[in-house]
Amino acid sequence: MPEHNDPTSTNRVAIVTGGARGIGAATARRLAADGLAVAVVDLDEEAARASADQLVAAGGRAVGLGADVSDAEAVAAATDRVVAELGAPTVLVNNAGVTRDNLLFKMADEDWDTVMRVHLRGAFLFTRAVQSHMVAATWGRVVNLSSRSAQGNRGQANYAAAKAGLQGFTKTLAIELGPFGITANAVAPGFIVTEMTKQTAERVGVDFDDFQQRAAEQTPVRRVGRPEDVAHTVSFLASAEAGFVTGQVIYVAGGPCD
Ligand code: NAP
Repeated sequence: MPEHNDPTSTNRVAIVTGGARGIGAATARRLAADGLAVAVVDLDEEAARASADQLVAAGGRAVGLGADVSDAEAVAAATDRVVAELGAPTVLVNNAGVTRDNLLFKMADEDWDTVMRVHLRGAFLFTRAVQSHMVAATWGRVVNLSSRSAQGNRGQANYAAAKAGLQGFTKTLAIELGPFGITANAVAPGFIVTEMTKQTAERVGVDFDDFQQRAAEQTPVRRVGRPEDVAHTVSFLASAEAGFVTGQVIYVAGGPCD
């Protein structure tokens, strides 16, 4: 039976992509509170640094780095900086995301390509860059942000395909990396109050409070989700104790999803 390292949380270094705001920022806060050192990666280095500075002010160890997750060179450079400034990363949260919603007949090539690049290529590039550190440590945790939209959502052919793709990617990582003590899981949120859902409300011309109220009414627990709801699930999946949970998709949606 293979022996896998089981580091204490204070030895662990996490990378959270898209960590400057929303679900990523809440996840970075939660992992820092769990005792992990956290690298916040985001498109905008200033915003990433501001998010990391809050973690440091709260007593954590953190750095903020600018990188486009869909750019292989930027991902390699960011990973090297994490190793140099915090240590070898063994927790990776592929959270960076964008929407380019439109009905299929109006969807531009660029809307399709952008969503695929950020979600799928981004998760692929970062996981490939970080896995060697996890394999060397014989311990690792990958958590990919999928979505309830993976099951299909009007106006989101690109996003639904990318989020469903991430579920297949996750299950394959679980199979390939499991022998090295590395788990891979996906978290699939429902409606979470962030800039992303605020922008969706603006796009469809609905006041954001009304938009949230409608979503809450359609949700069995009768409320919308908060970034902290997702961060809590990521925290569990990133923990040492979750080592026998892998290749799963956990819906954080206030109700059942298939
Ligand atoms: P958000 O508030 O829009 O935050 C996303 C972050 O990702 C932003 O800081 C954004 O930076 C960053 N980002 C975008 N493209 C990037 C790139 N190429 N490289 C690096 N960073 C990039 O979104 P959120 O609602 O927190 O969503 C986080 C994740 O959860 C996404 O994967 C999303 O698809 C998923 N999700 C969200 C919901 C929801 O209801 N909110 C539901 C299901 C799944 P900029 O601001 O500079 O663009």
